[in-house]
Amino acid sequence: MNLNHIIAGENQDENCPASPTGLKKHNWLSTNEIETKHGGEVFVRFICKRCKKTHDQLLSTEKFRLFERAIEMNKFMEY
Ligand SMILES: [Zn+2]
Repeated sequence: MNLNHIIAGENQDENCPASPTGLKKHNWLSTNEIETKHGGEVFVRFICKRCKKTHDQLLSTEKFRLFERAIEMNKFMEY
């Protein structure tokens, strides 16, 4: 399982250069870089499992709560 559905915007649709054909999407997982900001938004750093590109995303409290379990369960540990 990847977390592509959580990331809104352009990075979600970008092709991953490290995928077999170069034409598949990034395979986003979460990292340990998770930080609650003042005002309640949550900063989450995502990383592509294949090419190791990172993507920083601010999630609203509601969105973070909704996906918190998926974010916790799908961390990338090898970077
Ligand atoms: Zn990638």
